[in-house]
Amino acid sequence: MTAKIKGLKCRECGSEYKAEAFHVCEFCFGPLEVDYDYEAIGTRLSRESIQAGPFSLWRYVDLLPVEGIPTVGNSVGMTPLVHAKNLGRKLGLNHLYIKNDTVNHPTLSFKDRVVSVAISRAVEFGFKTVACASTGNLANSVSAHAAEAGLGCYVFIPSDLEAGKILGNLIYNPTVLAVNGNYDDVNRLCSEIASEYPWAFVNINVRPYYAEGSKTLAYETAEQLGWQAPDHVVVPMASGSLYTKIKKGLNEFTKLGIIDAKPTRMHGAQATGCSPIAAAFAEGRDFVHPVKPDTIAKSLAIGNPADGYYALKTAAESDGRMGHVSDPEIVEGIKLLAECEGIFAETAGGVTIGTLKKLAATGTFHKDDVVVAYITGNGLKTQEAVRDHVGAPVQISASLSGFEEKFKLEDKGKRLSIQA
Ligand SMILES: *Cc1c(COP(=O)(O)O)cnc(C)c1O
Repeated sequence: MTAKIKGLKCRECGSEYKAEAFHVCEFCFGPLEVDYDYEAIGTRLSRESIQAGPFSLWRYVDLLPVEGIPTVGNSVGMTPLVHAKNLGRKLGLNHLYIKNDTVNHPTLSFKDRVVSVAISRAVEFGFKTVACASTGNLANSVSAHAAEAGLGCYVFIPSDLEAGKILGNLIYNPTVLAVNGNYDDVNRLCSEIASEYPWAFVNINVRPYYAEGSKTLAYETAEQLGWQAPDHVVVPMASGSLYTKIKKGLNEFTKLGIIDAKPTRMHGAQATGCSPIAAAFAEGRDFVHPVKPDTIAKSLAIGNPADGYYALKTAAESDGRMGHVSDPEIVEGIKLLAECEGIFAETAGGVTIGTLKKLAATGTFHKDDVVVAYITGNGLKTQEAVRDHVGAPVQISASLSGFEEKFKLEDKGKRLSIQA
């Protein structure tokens, strides 16, 4: 089989490098990206070849940067694309879909996609230890996949993360380093450590490979829509990587003739308390001013987003919008999705739904447009965010009279006759 990876290429000056564990251009300090041989890939990739593949993200292996049999990720991806009829009705959308990565395996967020690719590649490079700088979900996924692959594991997190996310690391028994600082501090520290220790930091020295895993959210969406691109997507943004890679995935499928060309409008979502990309968009800037995050959406709390510049470019090229929502609006978004569709999302999902709602209210969509909202993490991990905003159980004694003391059921007779 012809090799599909040509090497790495600088996104700014185009300098070419071997496909190694390396992420910054030596000439211009631009970020490196995997460079594929699309001609070779095109000769073997088809809808049929994809459908004949495994029921996981590895059905798209021809467009992912691993060379051999992937080490991990056999249960990752192929999450449901839900036609959200109830929420759609509320927002005036007949074809609203939720891409539901709250049930992605094994750690209940989209990060299992990027980590499967990064760790499989790291093993190909011969690394024995993996690591990451994380806002929460990434550390969970690296910890779980390192356990599965039998690798050493160091995860670095801000010390103020949600309890569910901290436990979601410890259970796999990695070394967890809780840094007294925010994600940007953690990331700066990890960049220093990465240059001193022979570890694969999935989102630092292995980042060009890692980032490619996000494309599978676009591939799956297109396949699940019956091989077509949506008219609009709404995507939560932290570093902005996921948002840009969904566009890249759609572009690749189009270029390879897997789907017809369609000008999908890319909409980005941030929390108001950490919205450096959305703020730049609103002010018409093509560069980001770093901010100090202050939001309950901790998974999106990156104040200095690595892919902010490329996210702004993607929005401009696709006639996309960028929105942001306050902490109360995030909670409201989480509850709206749960009550309408039975999906319990984490705070990032509240950001996506809140922004979707605003975009709908400002007339961004036509009622028959196909709109896909990306729900990227599970609400059981961020219970702190909603605990004080849901009702309480009705306390009763263990007796029928105890029950009926609280509920004078007007339709009691009717119910009994149905039962009989
Ligand atoms: C990491 C993360 C994102 C977005 O990540 P990017 O850095 O923008 O690629 C979105 N949602 C959740 C739940 C995440 O954990």
